[in-house]
Amino acid sequence: MKITTGTSELRDITKMERIGVHSHIRGLGLDERLEPRESSQGLVGQAKARKAAGMILKMVQEGRIAGRAMLFAGPPSTGKTAIAMGMAQSLGHDVPFTMIAASEVFSLSMSKTEALTQAFRRSIGVRIKEESEIIEGEVVEIQIDRSLTGATKTGKLTIKTTDMETIYDLGTKMIDALTKEKVLAGDVIVIDKTSGKISKLGRSFARSRDYDAMGADTKFVQCPEGEIQKRKDVVHTVSLHEIDVINSRTQGFLALFAGDTGEIKPELRNQIDTKVADWREEGKAEIVPGVLFIDEVHMLDIECFSFLNRALEGDLAPLVIMASNRGMARIRGTKFRSPHGLPVDLLDRVLIVSTKPYEENEIQQIIKIRCQEEDVQLTQEAVDVLTSMAKQTTLRYALNLISCAQIVAKKRKSEQVDVADLRRAYTYFMDEKRSVQWLKEQQGSLIF
Ligand code: ATP
Repeated sequence: MKITTGTSELRDITKMERIGVHSHIRGLGLDERLEPRESSQGLVGQAKARKAAGMILKMVQEGRIAGRAMLFAGPPSTGKTAIAMGMAQSLGHDVPFTMIAASEVFSLSMSKTEALTQAFRRSIGVRIKEESEIIEGEVVEIQIDRSLTGATKTGKLTIKTTDMETIYDLGTKMIDALTKEKVLAGDVIVIDKTSGKISKLGRSFARSRDYDAMGADTKFVQCPEGEIQKRKDVVHTVSLHEIDVINSRTQGFLALFAGDTGEIKPELRNQIDTKVADWREEGKAEIVPGVLFIDEVHMLDIECFSFLNRALEGDLAPLVIMASNRGMARIRGTKFRSPHGLPVDLLDRVLIVSTKPYEENEIQQIIKIRCQEEDVQLTQEAVDVLTSMAKQTTLRYALNLISCAQIVAKKRKSEQVDVADLRRAYTYFMDEKRSVQWLKEQQGSLIF
């Protein structure tokens, strides 16, 4: 079976949505010694947890933490997800980061263990080295043979097609141009496929940054007479899950865009694992263990937990980061209670990092950062009121009010959000406590 790898440019839609509220986070905000800066890269306070996250990240980057697990435990809105996002931002660009809420595992379209297996395999990258076909917009370097032009000359050709015949045709035109225009060695020639126009960019271009950018990772190839060759080492990273889906007969790669990939047969996964192992041995591929973040982990049940325990032992396991805002809780699927709703054997192998409620000044800073991010102006009094609202409700509720209050302010044609706008938004949208209170009061008159 031929195993293909597709492309790494695929993005998970559910992931993108959830990132919105954390869009101000650009990293963990640590200095070179892994000490957290007071407020940096969008993160404020929570120093211990950020430092711990930084240490774990370092281990991930050194490839030493595959198959481990950590748990962020702390009250709601204390930045568990935010810090995990910070970790994701600090990982290398091709290190996979998958984020799921535990409840997503329960679906009618696939079993719980299949959903978890897919999440695991999304979080393992395979960095593949390939001698690629030329693809659209890429640049190849060609060398014109002495016998054709009388001198060895080098040109650069912008290719806008994957079709070899067109490439050959363009190349021939280029040779003509080289001869007619007396192009000197080192000059750069660009051929526009649509217009057929060949332009000479001269030597200064060859020394410019644009040239370097064009030439990045281009391998120079000596061509036989009159012929144009295309060879380029390309490295791309795809996840094991993407390889699974692309090679699944029932799915096909379009399923990746639909997001609904259905179940994948274990035999196919075995074949792919064997193939990837071969590629590794031949030096064609490397494994990049990534990170799997499971939010609200107490929502998993005992079967899921035993799956996690086993999967973490596997050869190809990512770093699993879990988050829970529960203290003692029942382990779903059993009658036992345990810390954070996790069975003891799993807890035993987990590094626990706790997050604590924020101080007033930290809440204020976070509110200000979010206002900047959402391009909303708050008066200082409004910031103070929102801060006290955050203390009485949750930080997340207060942050949600920012954009609602802005709409209220705009209605009265004001660019600035003031206390009255916040108050009004506060009456429109309930926080959890008020909502529960209201339901209690209505009991009897509401039918569920
Ligand atoms: P829950 O237990 O309810 O899932 P959580 O601990 O995961 O909560 P987050 O979702 O991370 O909380 O935080 C709520 C909001 O506050 C998010 O918009 C997040 O980006 C922001 N936030 C939390 N902590 C910080 C921080 N230290 N710096 C900047 N923003 C933060």
